[in-house]
Amino acid sequence: MKKILIGTHNKGKYKEISYLISKKFRKISPNKLKIKSPKETGKTFASNSKLKALYFSKYVAYPVISDDSGLCIKSLNNRPGIFSARLAKRKGSFFKAMEYLLKKMKRKKNRSAFFICSLSYKIPKGKIITVEGKIMGKISNKILGNKGFGYDSIFIPESHSITFGQMAKRKKINLDHRYLAFKKLKKKIKIL
Ligand code: IMP
Repeated sequence: MKKILIGTHNKGKYKEISYLISKKFRKISPNKLKIKSPKETGKTFASNSKLKALYFSKYVAYPVISDDSGLCIKSLNNRPGIFSARLAKRKGSFFKAMEYLLKKMKRKKNRSAFFICSLSYKIPKGKIITVEGKIMGKISNKILGNKGFGYDSIFIPESHSITFGQMAKRKKINLDHRYLAFKKLKKKIKIL
């Protein structure tokens, strides 16, 4: 069976990316191979996802897929953006990071936000292919739902009235920024 390394230590992302990739692939996690994450030194989602794909592909002789993603809130100058994971680390948990963001949003009229996912794919000795998916939405007034991960419980996607955190997992996976990026990647790499 063909193998693919899903270059992330984030359980929520791992599950989503695994679900999207064809059953023909055996999905391998960096945890299983005891590979740590690289430092995210890039200044954009794309540079970080490329950096991860390059890093993980040094450890295996089969394809690697990795992502860099985050929540961008318009009235906070698109923060936390590439710092989404780091904000949660700094605050101690995603719950605390969400509380912090909601507090910052208290007097803001514009609650528009978007999730971005930059997805990179690399085969041994091949070039990196990078695509991006973006889903627009808004920040809820409260933390709502516990079905998701990360910032899911404060993000209401466009054309919906509930947060990602309140949504059935399958529904979210088939509509979010990772799904939109994956759809673009699949057009280029049919075997996925
Ligand atoms: P990184 O890509 O490893 O830097 O982490 C991005 C962070 O953005 C994750 O740790 C999550 O907090 C957040 N994030 C990315 N995608 C999602 C999502 O689909 N739902 C909720 N939070 C997300």
